[in-house]
Amino acid sequence: MRPLLLLDVDGPLNPFAGKPERRPDGYTTHRMVLDGWTEQHPLRVWLNPDHGRMLTDLAVECGLDLVWATTWQHLANTMIAPLVGLPELPVIEFGDALGTAAWKWDAVTTYAGDRPLAWLDDDFHQWRHGRPKFDMARLGRPTLLHTVDARIGITYNDLSAVAEWALTLPSDAPAPQAPSPDAPDDTDQTDMSRLAALGTDEEWVGILQDLNGELAETGRMARD
Ligand SMILES: [Mg+2]
Repeated sequence: MRPLLLLDVDGPLNPFAGKPERRPDGYTTHRMVLDGWTEQHPLRVWLNPDHGRMLTDLAVECGLDLVWATTWQHLANTMIAPLVGLPELPVIEFGDALGTAAWKWDAVTTYAGDRPLAWLDDDFHQWRHGRPKFDMARLGRPTLLHTVDARIGITYNDLSAVAEWALTLPSDAPAPQAPSPDAPDDTDQTDMSRLAALGTDEEWVGILQDLNGELAETGRMARD
Protein backbone atom coordinates (compact mmCIF):
# COMPACT_ATOMS: atom_id res chain seq x y z
CA MET A 1 0.00 0.00 0.00
CA ARG A 2 1.75 3.10 -1.19
CA PRO A 3 1.04 6.16 0.94
CA LEU A 4 -0.89 9.04 -0.59
CA LEU A 5 -0.06 12.72 -0.70
CA LEU A 6 -3.31 14.60 -1.32
CA LEU A 7 -3.06 18.04 -2.81
CA ASP A 8 -5.46 20.99 -2.69
CA VAL A 9 -5.15 23.88 -5.16
CA ASP A 10 -6.63 27.02 -3.60
CA GLY A 11 -4.53 27.82 -0.58
CA PRO A 12 -1.60 25.39 -1.00
CA LEU A 13 -0.77 26.05 -4.66
CA ASN A 14 -2.70 29.29 -5.11
CA PRO A 15 -2.21 31.51 -2.03
CA PHE A 16 -5.38 33.41 -2.81
CA ALA A 17 -5.61 34.91 0.66
CA GLY A 18 -2.44 36.94 0.20
CA LYS A 19 -2.73 40.69 -0.03
CA PRO A 20 -3.89 41.66 -3.54
CA GLU A 21 -1.14 44.22 -3.88
CA ARG A 22 1.57 41.90 -2.61
CA ARG A 23 1.96 38.74 -4.65
CA PRO A 24 4.11 36.21 -2.75
CA ASP A 25 7.65 35.78 -4.04
CA GLY A 26 8.13 33.11 -6.66
CA TYR A 27 4.58 33.20 -7.96
CA THR A 28 3.22 34.25 -11.33
CA THR A 29 -0.25 35.64 -11.99
CA HIS A 30 -2.76 33.85 -14.20
CA ARG A 31 -6.25 35.03 -15.01
CA MET A 32 -8.68 32.23 -15.69
CA VAL A 33 -12.29 32.03 -16.84
CA LEU A 34 -13.95 28.79 -15.81
CA ASP A 35 -17.13 27.31 -17.21
CA GLY A 36 -20.03 29.04 -15.53
CA TRP A 37 -17.87 31.90 -14.29
CA THR A 38 -20.20 34.88 -13.84
CA GLU A 39 -17.93 37.43 -12.21
CA GLN A 40 -17.04 40.53 -14.19
CA HIS A 41 -13.32 39.85 -14.00
CA PRO A 42 -11.46 36.57 -14.59
CA LEU A 43 -10.33 34.58 -11.58
CA ARG A 44 -6.87 35.62 -10.44
CA VAL A 45 -4.72 32.60 -9.68
CA TRP A 46 -1.19 32.84 -8.30
CA LEU A 47 0.96 29.80 -9.06
CA ASN A 48 4.58 28.92 -8.34
CA PRO A 49 6.28 27.06 -11.21
CA ASP A 50 8.68 25.44 -8.71
CA HIS A 51 5.92 23.68 -6.80
CA GLY A 52 5.66 20.78 -9.22
CA ARG A 53 9.33 19.93 -8.90
CA MET A 54 9.27 20.29 -5.13
CA LEU A 55 6.26 18.03 -4.78
CA THR A 56 7.35 15.36 -7.24
CA ASP A 57 10.82 15.18 -5.67
CA LEU A 58 9.25 14.76 -2.26
CA ALA A 59 6.87 12.10 -3.57
CA VAL A 60 9.70 10.14 -5.18
CA GLU A 61 11.97 10.32 -2.16
CA CYS A 62 9.21 9.27 0.24
CA GLY A 63 7.44 6.78 -2.03
CA LEU A 64 4.19 8.79 -2.00
CA ASP A 65 1.50 8.87 -4.68
CA LEU A 66 0.34 12.41 -5.47
CA VAL A 67 -3.43 12.78 -5.91
CA TRP A 68 -5.61 15.85 -6.40
CA ALA A 69 -8.07 16.58 -3.59
CA THR A 70 -9.35 19.94 -4.79
CA THR A 71 -12.59 21.60 -5.75
CA TRP A 72 -10.99 22.08 -9.16
CA GLN A 73 -11.25 18.30 -9.53
CA HIS A 74 -10.33 17.33 -13.13
CA LEU A 75 -9.63 20.94 -14.07
CA ALA A 76 -6.57 20.70 -11.84
CA ASN A 77 -4.97 18.47 -14.45
CA THR A 78 -5.78 20.71 -17.39
CA MET A 79 -5.54 24.22 -15.93
CA ILE A 80 -3.18 24.00 -12.94
CA ALA A 81 -0.77 21.09 -13.41
CA PRO A 82 0.93 22.42 -16.59
CA LEU A 83 1.55 25.79 -14.93
CA VAL A 84 3.21 24.40 -11.81
CA GLY A 85 5.09 21.55 -13.49
CA LEU A 86 3.07 18.63 -12.22
CA PRO A 87 2.17 15.61 -14.35
CA GLU A 88 -1.42 14.49 -14.76
CA LEU A 89 -2.52 13.08 -11.42
CA PRO A 90 -5.44 10.97 -10.21
CA VAL A 91 -8.42 13.05 -9.08
CA ILE A 92 -10.68 12.48 -6.09
CA GLU A 93 -14.24 13.38 -7.07
CA PHE A 94 -16.59 14.92 -4.51
CA GLY A 95 -19.96 14.84 -6.22
CA ASP A 96 -22.43 17.03 -4.33
CA ALA A 97 -20.57 16.88 -1.03
CA LEU A 98 -18.71 20.17 -1.35
CA GLY A 99 -20.41 22.83 0.71
CA THR A 100 -21.85 20.23 3.08
CA ALA A 101 -20.41 18.82 6.29
CA ALA A 102 -19.11 15.87 4.29
CA TRP A 103 -16.94 18.34 2.32
CA LYS A 104 -13.95 16.30 1.07
CA TRP A 105 -13.92 14.02 4.12
CA ASP A 106 -16.09 11.16 2.90
CA ALA A 107 -14.64 11.00 -0.59
CA VAL A 108 -11.09 10.99 0.76
CA THR A 109 -12.02 8.27 3.25
CA THR A 110 -13.36 6.10 0.46
CA TYR A 111 -10.49 6.81 -1.93
CA ALA A 112 -7.73 6.21 0.60
CA GLY A 113 -9.12 3.03 2.14
CA ASP A 114 -6.37 1.60 4.31
CA ARG A 115 -3.54 3.52 2.65
CA PRO A 116 -1.54 5.98 4.74
CA LEU A 117 -2.24 9.54 3.69
CA ALA A 118 -0.78 12.98 4.06
CA TRP A 119 -3.04 15.83 3.00
CA LEU A 120 -2.12 19.44 2.22
CA ASP A 121 -5.12 21.78 2.49
CA ASP A 122 -6.08 25.11 4.02
CA ASP A 123 -9.67 24.35 5.03
CA PHE A 124 -9.67 21.56 7.58
CA HIS A 125 -10.93 23.96 10.27
CA GLN A 126 -13.72 25.34 8.14
CA TRP A 127 -15.32 21.93 7.63
CA ARG A 128 -14.58 20.50 11.03
CA HIS A 129 -18.11 19.14 11.58
CA GLY A 130 -17.37 16.27 9.22
CA ARG A 131 -14.02 15.59 10.78
CA PRO A 132 -15.00 13.21 13.63
CA LYS A 133 -16.41 10.70 11.15
CA PHE A 134 -13.24 10.97 9.12
CA ASP A 135 -11.05 10.55 12.19
CA MET A 136 -12.98 7.45 13.20
CA ALA A 137 -12.57 5.95 9.76
CA ARG A 138 -8.85 6.67 9.84
CA LEU A 139 -8.21 5.11 13.24
CA GLY A 140 -5.12 2.93 13.01
CA ARG A 141 -4.28 4.27 9.56
CA PRO A 142 -1.39 6.74 9.41
CA THR A 143 -2.87 10.14 8.60
CA LEU A 144 -1.37 13.62 8.43
CA LEU A 145 -3.68 16.58 7.93
CA HIS A 146 -1.34 19.47 7.34
CA THR A 147 -2.75 22.98 7.07
CA VAL A 148 -1.06 25.24 4.56
CA ASP A 149 -1.29 29.00 5.08
CA ALA A 150 -3.50 30.27 2.25
CA ARG A 151 -1.72 33.64 2.36
CA ILE A 152 1.65 32.07 1.56
CA GLY A 153 1.11 28.73 -0.17
CA ILE A 154 3.24 25.62 0.14
CA THR A 155 6.67 26.26 1.60
CA TYR A 156 9.61 24.02 2.35
CA ASN A 157 8.39 23.83 5.93
CA ASP A 158 5.15 22.26 4.78
CA LEU A 159 6.99 19.68 2.71
CA SER A 160 9.37 18.99 5.57
CA ALA A 161 6.38 18.14 7.76
CA VAL A 162 5.27 15.60 5.17
CA ALA A 163 8.78 14.18 4.91
CA GLU A 164 9.02 13.79 8.68
CA TRP A 165 5.64 12.07 8.75
CA ALA A 166 6.76 9.71 5.99
CA LEU A 167 9.66 8.64 8.20
CA THR A 168 7.18 7.41 10.78
CA LEU A 169 5.48 5.01 8.39
CA PRO A 170 6.02 1.27 8.83
CA SER A 171 9.13 0.01 7.12
CA ASP A 172 7.17 -2.56 5.14
CA ALA A 173 5.77 0.11 2.90
CA PRO A 174 6.89 -0.64 -0.65
CA ALA A 175 9.98 0.99 -2.02
CA PRO A 176 9.80 3.00 -5.23
CA GLN A 177 9.82 0.77 -8.27
CA ALA A 178 13.17 0.01 -9.84
CA PRO A 179 13.52 1.39 -13.36
CA SER A 180 12.62 -1.06 -16.09
CA PRO A 181 15.40 -2.43 -18.32
CA ASP A 182 14.01 -0.29 -21.13
CA ALA A 183 14.23 2.91 -19.13
CA PRO A 184 16.88 5.45 -20.09
CA ASP A 185 20.20 4.76 -18.41
CA ASP A 186 20.56 7.28 -15.60
CA THR A 187 23.10 5.41 -13.56
CA ASP A 188 25.42 8.37 -13.71
CA GLN A 189 22.87 10.52 -11.97
CA THR A 190 23.20 9.70 -8.30
CA ASP A 191 20.50 10.49 -5.80
CA MET A 192 22.65 13.21 -4.33
CA SER A 193 23.26 14.90 -7.64
CA ARG A 194 19.56 14.80 -8.38
CA LEU A 195 18.81 16.28 -5.01
CA ALA A 196 21.36 18.97 -5.61
CA ALA A 197 19.43 19.86 -8.75
CA LEU A 198 16.56 20.94 -6.55
CA GLY A 199 17.87 24.44 -6.62
CA THR A 200 19.43 26.96 -4.37
CA ASP A 201 17.57 26.25 -1.15
CA GLU A 202 20.35 24.47 0.69
CA GLU A 203 18.19 23.81 3.69
CA TRP A 204 15.70 21.84 1.64
CA VAL A 205 18.44 19.89 -0.10
CA GLY A 206 19.84 19.02 3.32
CA ILE A 207 16.45 17.88 4.54
CA LEU A 208 16.03 15.57 1.58
CA GLN A 209 19.57 14.24 1.94
CA ASP A 210 18.90 13.42 5.58
CA LEU A 211 15.60 11.88 4.65
CA ASN A 212 17.21 9.80 1.95
CA GLY A 213 19.71 8.41 4.43
CA GLU A 214 17.09 7.68 7.07
CA LEU A 215 14.80 5.96 4.60
CA ALA A 216 17.67 3.81 3.42
CA GLU A 217 18.43 2.84 7.02
CA THR A 218 14.86 1.84 7.70
CA GLY A 219 14.76 -0.21 4.50
CA ARG A 220 11.98 1.80 2.90
CA MET A 221 14.20 2.69 -0.02
CA ALA A 222 15.62 -0.35 -1.79
CA ARG A 223 18.86 0.89 -3.20
CA ASP A 224 21.03 -1.45 -5.26
MG1 LIG B 1 -8.27 25.21 -0.38
